[in-house]
Amino acid sequence: MKVELIAFDSMGVRSMCTYIETKSLRIIIDPSAALAPRRFGLPPHEIEIERLNQLAKKITEKALNADVIIITHYHYDHHDLGDLIPLDIYNNKIVMVKDPENNINKSQKDFRAPLFLGIIKQRAKSLEIADNKVFNIEGVKIEFSKAVFHGASDLLGYVIEVMIDEDGDKVIHTSDVQGPIFEDQVEFLLKNKPRIAIIDGPMIYMLGYRYSYENLDASLKNIEKLIESGIEEIILDHHMLRDRNYIYIFKNLREKYPKAKILTAAEYMGLEVDILEARRKELFNKGGNKKENMEGNDREENSTSSISNIRENT
Ligand SMILES: [Zn+2]
Ligand SMILES: [Zn+2]
Repeated sequence: MKVELIAFDSMGVRSMCTYIETKSLRIIIDPSAALAPRRFGLPPHEIEIERLNQLAKKITEKALNADVIIITHYHYDHHDLGDLIPLDIYNNKIVMVKDPENNINKSQKDFRAPLFLGIIKQRAKSLEIADNKVFNIEGVKIEFSKAVFHGASDLLGYVIEVMIDEDGDKVIHTSDVQGPIFEDQVEFLLKNKPRIAIIDGPMIYMLGYRYSYENLDASLKNIEKLIESGIEEIILDHHMLRDRNYIYIFKNLREKYPKAKILTAAEYMGLEVDILEARRKELFNKGGNKKENMEGNDREENSTSSISNIRENT
C-alpha cells in the first residue's frame, strides 16, 4: 500500500489531503485545501496563494484518478465546493462522507453539508454515510470510527477517523482531532495499531485561548501512548504546524523516543517543512518591498473571485 501525503500545513496550506493506492483501489481522503483568512491581522500572502493553487492542482490530479473519495467533515479545508478543485473529481466515484445529520454542529448541519451533498450526489456513483461503518471494496477494508469531537469540544462539530486495511497493512487518518485529546479520539488508533497514523496534532497556535494547557497535556500523553503502542510511523501535522513551536514537540518526542519515526507530512514525503501561515508576518515584512505587498493585500482581500478558499475553514 502506497501512502502519499498530498497537501498539509507543513507544506504551506491548511489541509490533510491524503492519497492511498492499494493493488486494486485508489482512495483520496479530504481533497481540499484552504488558507487562514486572517492571521496576525493579515490576509494571506501572495506566496501562500501561489502555494494553494499549486497544491490544488496536485489534489485535483490525484482525485480525478481515485476510485473512492472520503470526506471526514464539512470544513472547507477538507471539502471544496468547486472553487478551487473542480467538481468533476466526484463524477462516477464512490463517495463516503461524515453523517450530515447526526453528531454535527449547526453550521455544518444546516448549511455546509446539505449544500455540498446536494451538489455531489448528482455526480457520484454512490454516496455512503460512513460513521462507524465498515466497507469492503475489491478486497480492501475501509473502516470508520464513530464520530468524535472536532478538537476539544463539540463546538466545531465532529469528525470521523478512517482506516484503510489491505491484507492487514493498515493506515489511519484521524482528521481534525487536534491532539488527540480524548480517549475516544485515540481509541480507534490503539485498537487497530496501524503501520502509519496520520494525525492532526495539538492546536498550539490557540494555546491558552481556544485550546487549553490541559488539552495540550492530554494530547502529548496520548501521542506518547501511540508511540509506545508500536505504531511504526506517526505523522503529526495540520493544526500543530500553524505555530513555530511545533518544533519543540518534535524535539521532546524524538529525544524521549529516539527509535520512533515521528514526522511531519512534508518530511514523510521527503520535503523540507515549509510552514507559511505561521510565518505570515515575516513574509509581509521581508525584502523591503513592504509597500508593494501591502497594496497587494488590499487587492486580494477585496477580490471575490480569485481564491474563495480564503474563508473561515478551521
Ligand atoms: Zn482541518
Ligand atoms: Zn475542521
